[in-house]
Amino acid sequence: MKGVLYLVATPIGNLEDITLRAIRILKEVDLIAAEDTRHSLKLLNHLEISKPLFSYHRHNEELKSRVLIDKLLDGENVALITDAGTPAISDPGEFIVKKAIENNINVIPIPGCCALINALICSGFDTKEFVFYGFLPLNKKLRLSKFEELKREQKTIILYEAPHKIVATLNDIYKNLGDVNIVLARELTKIHESFIRGKVSELITMMENIKGEMIILIESGKKETEDIKENLSIEDQYELYQKEGLSKNEIIKKIAKNNNVKKNEIYMKFLDKE
Ligand code: SAM
Repeated sequence: MKGVLYLVATPIGNLEDITLRAIRILKEVDLIAAEDTRHSLKLLNHLEISKPLFSYHRHNEELKSRVLIDKLLDGENVALITDAGTPAISDPGEFIVKKAIENNINVIPIPGCCALINALICSGFDTKEFVFYGFLPLNKKLRLSKFEELKREQKTIILYEAPHKIVATLNDIYKNLGDVNIVLARELTKIHESFIRGKVSELITMMENIKGEMIILIESGKKETEDIKENLSIEDQYELYQKEGLSKNEIIKKIAKNNNVKKNEIYMKFLDKE
């Protein structure tokens, strides 16, 4: 008989945040696959669980998932845990889940902490409808096009970000979405847990004194920048979009849309522009 792949949620800071069922499953499985085995060992030692640990992370997911699938096909039960929270959310878990399903292996969730949900429920923003974009791409072009999507978004937006990139991402939010309302859900379930609320411009100036793991939430509604741009002269609109790194074609398309005129009309006006 094939084994089962359990996706076991673990704490995002406070070690008390683990369910009785998660502890039982971790004790019962044959093997625990973990993103950072040294990090997970602290939790397992705390729970007095001694099990073979198997390293499974972003840089070895293809190779290691093959080994794990073979073990599952041989009848071993495997628990997948991540560094923090729910496996397969913004971590390599998604890959092995797909492989397990392809191999008709049973995948069972063992629910618990998920960072984004805890950030959302304390944000004070709309929780009826929200979108999770995970980590924004680092590639300049992909990042810009992601921001184009975010501009049109009408729901609460949730982003993950690494601690050392928070300031850069807040600056990009300001540049692309305007002075939107933000909540930074910081160090959830840990000693320095806090919710920092304000306009993105205010938070940028505060950031020098704020450290730690954070989730960025953006309030729903029409994003300010398009409103602001619609009220500028078309020459100023051109300059602003140029500063944002848009190509001539993209700029013309946007100005035509903002001003409800034909693209060609705008094109003729900026014939001599780069
Ligand atoms: N799989 C996890 C989950 O349950 O959502 C998330 C893993 S993702 C690799 C890590 C990101 O989640 C961090 O960069 C941060 O944005 C967020 N995060 C994780 N733990 C957090 C915490 N205790 N406080 C604030 N943000 C946290």
